[in-house]
Formats: sequence, structure tokens, C-alpha cells
Amino acid sequence: MQFRKIVGQQEVKSRLIRGIADGKVAHTQLFLGPEGSGSLPMAIAYAQYINCNNKVDSDSCGKCPSCIKFEKYSHPDLHFFFPNTTTESIKKDSESKLLLNEWRNYLNSCGAYATKNKWHSFIGVGNKQGLINVRDAKEIVSKMIMKPYEAEYKIIVIWLAERMNPQAANKLLKTLEEPPSNTLILMIAERYELIIPTVRSRAQLIKFNKINDDDITSALNSNVVEVSTNIGISEITKLAKGSWNEAVAIIENNERSNDYFLKFRQWLRYCFVPKNHVELFAFNQELARMGREKQKSFLNLGLSIVHNSIMVNNNNVNAIKSSGEEFDFTKSFAPFINSANQIEIYKLLNDAIYHIERNAHAGILFTDLSLKLVRLLAQGKIEAKNK
Ligand SMILES: [Zn+2]
Repeated sequence: MQFRKIVGQQEVKSRLIRGIADGKVAHTQLFLGPEGSGSLPMAIAYAQYINCNNKVDSDSCGKCPSCIKFEKYSHPDLHFFFPNTTTESIKKDSESKLLLNEWRNYLNSCGAYATKNKWHSFIGVGNKQGLINVRDAKEIVSKMIMKPYEAEYKIIVIWLAERMNPQAANKLLKTLEEPPSNTLILMIAERYELIIPTVRSRAQLIKFNKINDDDITSALNSNVVEVSTNIGISEITKLAKGSWNEAVAIIENNERSNDYFLKFRQWLRYCFVPKNHVELFAFNQELARMGREKQKSFLNLGLSIVHNSIMVNNNNVNAIKSSGEEFDFTKSFAPFINSANQIEIYKLLNDAIYHIERNAHAGILFTDLSLKLVRLLAQGKIEAKNK
């Protein structure tokens, strides 16, 4: 992770770089910032920078042997500790080192912009909350004693230090006070008040604010992530409220719902002009292969379009939350959703969701649904003409 990949937070970057240049590196530091502010990627970039064989004033080189290992989060002198718990494969006595592969895969998947919930769902533990426990603390102490393998500084990253339980914290106190000279302990936290006071008093505090809107906008503009949604960058920035994770989540969710919209529109068009049943039935098969959760999301999107059409018909356009193509389509589709069919279409989609949840045969379900929709849309067309 190079500094340049981190969204915003220029002040923190400069402060960290200056500290190294001036030879003032505190051995225990606490990176404190809200979720989505980039405190973990910053810690990793800092660790990479301090150990880079070829650094320049503003960043690590990204290419030397040390950097390459840091980029993969697999440098032998980079040690991670994070909330952990029992999982499908770890039946008891969980600890960070048993989940290192998953952790590295997770960091790769999110560019080190980790969140507590996503991490827990990544390891499949749902609502269970992980802790940094006394086994982790013992491991940290043993890593401290060891000499670095090859780097100048051995780095210990403790992600979400507020999730450290009291036994673990007590075990670590002495180590936090006097780590060996070639060791850097970087604790990352979101909630200062939840960190045990004796732990936080031993660390130099580096505070992160939310990311500036301008920095989020320019990161989105510079294609750090692909923005192919129908909502604009300024809208994403506004909704993200200073969190890079939120910005990425908005893009992902929007892409997904846009996919469903395009599918639903296609389906309605086949049902609306049913001269070609071959295409409609082929499309049904495609829907049937989608998987239950996706089928439910698809039908829910359909329900919201029908709902919005009814709003349009009742001169309540302002109540519609969709925008862009979906909004335009809803307006042109609305006249055909009327007293002749609206209640039945609504019920049809709702019932389909109900049956999907109860494992109905998807092929039969979508064929039946399509045929009924063809008939109901034909009735709506007649009603619209008569108006
Ligand atoms: Zn380097």
C-alpha cells in the first residue's frame, strides 16, 4: 500500500512522513478515526514507507523487494492482530494467526479499507462479534521478543484495539510501554472511549477526521474504482459523508440495482409485446437460473417500479426515490398500470417472492408469472386506450 492510494488525509500523511524524516517515530501509536476514514490502509502504507529501500520524500517506491511483500500484506515482519472468533473451521480457541489467510484475502478484496461488519461476514460468523483475546496478546509478546527477519522495523498492527478484552490488554501493558527499539506497534481504533485507559495512555495519538468531500470526489474521478452507475459522482460524495467505504458501497449497491432494473425492463418489454414467445421463455430460463436471493431482489425491484408507477398516476412524482433511466422508464410505463391490473400485478409479484422463499420450482414459477403478466398488461393496455 502506497500513500498515494489512500483517499485524502493529506495532513496525516505529511505528519507521518515528517516524523520519519526528523527521526521522531513513537514506538506505540494509536490511529484513531471513524470507519471509512482509511486508518488501517494508512498504517500499512506507513509501515511500508518506513521499511522501503528506495523511498522518496512523499512515498514508498512500491517496487523494491520489501514494498512488494508489503503490497501483498505478507511481509514476514508485518504482523496483524484483529478481532476473531470461532468459525466453521475453527471450533475453539480462536486467535488471529489461525485466520491470517482469510485476513490477507479480505484486505486484498477491499484494498485494506476494512470494516468490522464486512470482516465478520467475510469469515462467515454473521452477527457474532470477534475479540482480540489473551492468546493474541501472548502471540504479540512473543513477536516482540523476536528480531526482525529482514526489515529495519518489525511492525505489529492491532486492528480495532477497542475489541481487545481486559485480559489481553493487561498482558500487553508492559510491552506497550517499552517495545524493543526496532519494533513499531500501530493500534487502529474507531472508538477512543472503549479502549482501556492504561492502553491508550501508552500510545501516541494520531487522529483521523472524516475524509473531505473534495478528496472523495477526486478519488472517484481518478478511477480508483470504476464508477459506472446512473448516479453522479457529486451525489455519491454527498451520500458517502466522508467515508470511502460508504462511497464504494453506494456504487456497488447501485450497480446491482441497476442490473435488476435493466433485466426487469427487458422482461416487461417481452411481456408487453408477446409476439415472440420463444424469446420470453428463453428469458424465463435466465431468470430461473439466477439464484433465490437475486430472484427476490429482482422481484422487489419490480414491486418498487409498480409502486412508483401508481405514484405517478396519482400525481405523486415527488415521492419517487428512483432516478435516471429507471425514473424515465417508470413514467412511460405508468399509464399501463391502472385500475384494470395494478392490484393483481402487485399481488402476483408479492406471491412470487413468497413462493421463492419456500423453494418453489423457479422455472415453473417464472413461466407462470410471465404468462399472467402478458394477460394483465394486455388488460392495462385496453384500459389506457379507453381513457
Ligand atoms: Zn520500496
